Amino acid sequence: MPGMQDGRIVILPPTPGGCPYCGDTHDPRDPHNRDSLTYQHKFRKKYGRYPTWEDAMRHCSVLTQARWAEKLAERGIQVEVSGHERG
Ligand SMILES: [Zn+2]
Repeated sequence: MPGMQDGRIVILPPTPGGCPYCGDTHDPRDPHNRDSLTYQHKFRKKYGRYPTWEDAMRHCSVLTQARWAEKLAERGIQVEVSGHERG
């Protein structure tokens, strides 16, 4: 578990101007940073589990999801694209 080596979880404040969900600076149309501790903490508090890449890109367009799924696949991460478009 990243960030828990010494038994404490350190939540860094979001970057000014960063995403309100993951604290990262990214295009709102792009997925949240699933590896962001801010995002993991917020997500877990709300849903009782840790986010997956599918969760991180749920708000994205189908096209964006497909693009990211391809990128992640290159890194050996398999993502199921939901095909669900919202917003
Ligand atoms: Zn985000």
